[in-house]
Amino acid sequence: MRFEGKVAIITGAGRGIGKAIAERLASEGADVVICDIDEEAAERTAEEIKNKYSVKAIAIRADVANGEEVNSMVEETIKNFARIDFLINNAGITRDSLLLRMSEEEWEKVISVDLKSVFLCTKAVVRHMMRQRFGRVVNISSVIGLRGNVGQANYSAAKAGIIGFTKSIARELAGRNITVNAVAPGYIQTEMTERLPQEVKEEMLKQVPLGRPGQPEDVAGVVAFLCSDDASYITGEIIRVDGGMAM
Ligand code: NAP
Repeated sequence: MRFEGKVAIITGAGRGIGKAIAERLASEGADVVICDIDEEAAERTAEEIKNKYSVKAIAIRADVANGEEVNSMVEETIKNFARIDFLINNAGITRDSLLLRMSEEEWEKVISVDLKSVFLCTKAVVRHMMRQRFGRVVNISSVIGLRGNVGQANYSAAKAGIIGFTKSIARELAGRNITVNAVAPGYIQTEMTERLPQEVKEEMLKQVPLGRPGQPEDVAGVVAFLCSDDASYITGEIIRVDGGMAM
């Protein structure tokens, strides 16, 4: 129970990778805030976690691209738990299109939800971490942010942006005992990737040396490591969880 007494906010935790991260941290004793734009999904996940593990879990609906909603989500967390130890910036979306067909709206939406959100949530949370002189921020980037992808200029720009943000903030906050790292997943089986056409999934799988798609739990284990004391000397790092896809 290495996370007993710790409090974690996980964004986009109603389902998929975020949900697996929340479960993993709760299974090791952390109290969790399940933040999602989908209120029902957030409540369902919080309920499941409370029934399964003896921790506190609360659901908070917030659009992570909206500064006011992010600030009230963080205030509500402090009201409930009086501290925040881990922030997992996981919420993300795709709006794929080839560049010449990509609309300004598709560009802005992905940059807002996938990148601006990381700035908004981190800024709102770190003031509390600074006071505590302890914190762990883990950002969920993507291998697409490392190597690009046809039809994903908006998504890859946002995910690459997260990497630059991670390294800058890691430097800014290191003196306060706050580490900031990122995880770059490859092809992970969730609703986000299940929606893709069969031939695209087969093509992605061919690029994975380990020969299988990743599971949300594969990402959750690495996030838990980055939150743990074993990772206390790691900051500004980007860890691929991709079965070798982007090496
Ligand atoms: P997912 O199954 O689509 O889950 C994402 C969750 O985030 C959903 O519950 C979604 O709610 C929520 N969300 C969307 N927009 C939001 C907003 N504005 N504010 C708050 N919550 C919001 O996605 P996933 O596959 O678990 O992906 C999680 C993260 O990993 C994303 O950042 C993604 O880019 C990254 N990632 C995924 C893969 C992969 O292969 N799956 C690979 C690399 C990186 P709704 O259901 O209402 O949209």
